[in-house]
Amino acid sequence: SASIFAAVEMAPRDPILGLNEAFAADTRAEKVNLGVGVYYDDNGKIPLLAAVRAAEKARLEAMPPRGYQPIEGPATYNNAVQNLLLGKDSALIANGQVVTVEALGGTGALKVGADYLKRLVPGATVYISDPSWENHRALFESAGFPVDVYPYYDAETRGVNFAGMKAKLESLPAGSIIVLHACCHNPTGADMSDAQWEEVVAACRSRGLIPFLDMAYQGFADGIDADAVAVRAFSASGLQFFVSSSFSKSFSLYGERVGALSIITAGKEESARVLSQVKRVIRTNYSNPPIHGGAVVAAVLNSPELRQQWEDELAGMRDRIRAMRTSLVEQLKAEGVAQDFSFVIKQRGMFSYTGLSAAQVETLKTQYGIYAVSTGRICLAALNSKNIGYVAKAIAAVVKG
Ligand code: PLP
Repeated sequence: SASIFAAVEMAPRDPILGLNEAFAADTRAEKVNLGVGVYYDDNGKIPLLAAVRAAEKARLEAMPPRGYQPIEGPATYNNAVQNLLLGKDSALIANGQVVTVEALGGTGALKVGADYLKRLVPGATVYISDPSWENHRALFESAGFPVDVYPYYDAETRGVNFAGMKAKLESLPAGSIIVLHACCHNPTGADMSDAQWEEVVAACRSRGLIPFLDMAYQGFADGIDADAVAVRAFSASGLQFFVSSSFSKSFSLYGERVGALSIITAGKEESARVLSQVKRVIRTNYSNPPIHGGAVVAAVLNSPELRQQWEDELAGMRDRIRAMRTSLVEQLKAEGVAQDFSFVIKQRGMFSYTGLSAAQVETLKTQYGIYAVSTGRICLAALNSKNIGYVAKAIAAVVKG
């Protein structure tokens, strides 16, 4: 008899993974992959932070037993996450208004949040930025929500189309879920100003929207507290909201899958009920989170010395990306490019929307072995002192035609 899989169709390839496969197969020595979404150091390697190494060494020496964790993860980890997001003196934390559960990276946090929201507001529509991280749509659709967009990026100004965004938010039905990039917008690198965040908060309040902040790059723009401006604006508002957060980038712990979902409620007793429901979502999915990554992050955040060392290392990553932005702009100018690329310096986080067309991106690949996403998104953290000259020359040649 026929296999039960006989009629299964091939799913479409993930565009970024497809890019990585093509890059791996490219035999040119000078090839550069700007399509990635990870931070590489100046040697083109994913760093293992010294603070992480110290915490892992201590764990290895202690050889702790590996019992089950609480469904929501350990309090040492969840409390540290809350302090990082809301500030350690947050009244919301003191009042018991913050529910935090450890999750499998930022993606896992989004999915636990999405699955819980599907129980809470089953008829809602989810709105994501146009454009957004490509997994946002798929993830909320897989949780059963219809997903639509709000205007975000303005290709003319290379900034945020704030008037368009605000008008859209103010037109949405109450109970709509609105996914916001808390900082370092992926893929555009265009963030809102503090004043614009206040207007977003006001729109969420007046329309009764459910904000879901996605914080995957805390510390990559200006620093831990500065990058939490959106979270802090919402926390001062008295509204209820969701935050997914991730240590993949800030701790360079991509494969350990360390993140968290935090939900801000109206009070302590409400928090207990919400937590009990979120725990059901986790229990019926993966039961409880793995130990290692969260234990390492908690050990670093809860030790004054390791925490300082981590903040210094995080600042090092942030500064290196900034230096690559400045250097790329200067080198393009030095190559005689007439077009003004200074917007690359203003964009924040790991990415830049360069404005390169799909055809230009294709030429970069075929003629120079330089890989980027067809939207023109490049990862600045993939540039280093050895490859930036080559990349600048190639981009210059391509834009000059
Ligand atoms: N959200 C955004 C906007 C991202 O860019 C990413 C990672 O690329 C994530 C969430 C997911 O992060 P994680 O790798 O921790 O699942």
